[in-house]
Amino acid sequence: MVENIGTEASRALEGARPRVFWLDPDVPGHDVPEPAPPLTEDVHTNLAVVGAGYTGLWTALLAKERDPERDVVLIEARTTGWAASGRNGGFCAASLTHGFENGEQRWPEEIDELERQGAANLDAIEETVRRYDIDCEFERTGETLVATAPWQVRDLEEAAAALRERGLDTPLWDAEGTRDRIDSPTYLGALHEPDGVAMLHPAKLAWGLRAVCERLGVRIFENSPVRDIVRTPLGLRLQTGTGSVHASKVAWGGGAFPGPLRRLKHYLAPVYDYALMTEPLTDEQRDSIGWKGREGVSDAAHFFHYYRLTADNRILWGGYDIVHHYGGRVRPEYEQRPETFHKLAEHFLETFPQLRGIRFSHTWGGVIDTCSRFSVFFGDAYDGRLAYAAGYTGLGVGATRFGAQVLLDRLDGLDTERTRLRMVREKPLPFPPEPVRSIGIELTLRATASADRNEGRRNLWLRGLDSVGMGFDS
Ligand SMILES: Cc1cc2nc3c(=O)[nH]c(=O)nc-3n(C[C@H](O)[C@H](O)[C@H](O)COP(=O)(O)OP(=O)(O)OC[C@H]3O[C@@H](n4cnc5c(N)ncnc54)[C@H](O)[C@@H]3O)c2cc1C
Repeated sequence: MVENIGTEASRALEGARPRVFWLDPDVPGHDVPEPAPPLTEDVHTNLAVVGAGYTGLWTALLAKERDPERDVVLIEARTTGWAASGRNGGFCAASLTHGFENGEQRWPEEIDELERQGAANLDAIEETVRRYDIDCEFERTGETLVATAPWQVRDLEEAAAALRERGLDTPLWDAEGTRDRIDSPTYLGALHEPDGVAMLHPAKLAWGLRAVCERLGVRIFENSPVRDIVRTPLGLRLQTGTGSVHASKVAWGGGAFPGPLRRLKHYLAPVYDYALMTEPLTDEQRDSIGWKGREGVSDAAHFFHYYRLTADNRILWGGYDIVHHYGGRVRPEYEQRPETFHKLAEHFLETFPQLRGIRFSHTWGGVIDTCSRFSVFFGDAYDGRLAYAAGYTGLGVGATRFGAQVLLDRLDGLDTERTRLRMVREKPLPFPPEPVRSIGIELTLRATASADRNEGRRNLWLRGLDSVGMGFDS
């Protein structure tokens, strides 16, 4: 007898570990590095980098590549990659603008240049991974955007036409063509982007970048949260509980955590995104879904799912719910959300009914640094002695390397193809203070859910936000 899907979802989740798969030391092949020592003294440096997520790691690495003599200190509140960088979906995209459409709407005059720089950035990530032999399971698979409702098919056709006008021939598949590639009865069509996205193991990338930084001579301190930033005659002093870093320049890559850089609070709304991981698929299960191209997949709804295969043929299944807590609260207990996991498991089983009986091995969530324009923004503080990059909004795996380059350009006062971009010079609209912020976010989430139910039609509230360039996404 076929079980009810809710019962089947509960059964599939039984025994799943409430922890991040990628960071789980018990998974074979996960060589979690020993933590670097905490900061227990006063150190002096030319460049201090705050945060050992991808932004900070790329900044430290590229600073050393640009000038091997430069002294660089990397300081991290916890351990390398524990936050978004070690718990994401591992979709490493060329887009710097949270997708072509968002970029084209906001910066139409420079979208071609943004796309060009984004593609070069992804190539450079691949080249760096190969050059330093970083074992992060990098696979340049591309991505398939699937339609599961007729209005999404129309959206994909429009998107394909817009891309064709720019000379980009992006394959558009009908239901049969899509199911030939990846077999789900829910698919009505798909747009395939063959080159602009790679899949990787997020934590292994963070650990690998850390190892390269160490090899290049970056001094790394972990479990050392910067609590205060103080001006000094020669630069800035970053104060932790047990030591301090005196630096001429500071690059801030603190992700969704503004800490002492309070101005970032106006621009960032921390939102939780959730994911499940299955056990490795058997050969039979693997054959039943096709998916020979191993590309990343997401659906074309506003509240979308993203999913992919791992190197050992598990399926990571994430997205859909976006959860913001009043006041932008971030707490460890928010990383587990059973009602979201159950919903995600049901959606998984509806998408791949042939995989009924499968079990999920891990459930987790993490914080995304959402900003109102959905893509990284930059700023300076302390008379240009500190530069920050934040607001990647769920698409930072690739864009953080670009963010790091911009941070270095700005701190060194360089005029480059990056710093000339309007996208780099402009900031997003700030979010209003509480309680208006939470009310606005709730209204936006409800309106977005309603658009998904109503053929993608955006109501007055969403159109109003669109007209001022403000939005809320993951
Ligand atoms: C569940 C989830 C799924 C995602 N999926 C994808 C995806 O598939 N593709 C994609 O492109 N993007 C994805 N993202 C987003 C992507 O992971 C982020 O954009 C990217 O990792 C941001 O990197 P970061 O270094 O800026 O921030 P983080 O990785 O958050 O790193 C910031 C670091 O700074 C440290 N820090 C903060 N404050 C201080 C302080 N005061 N002192 C010292 N250290 C400090 C933190 O401890 C942290 O380690 C996802 C995110 C989540 C949460």
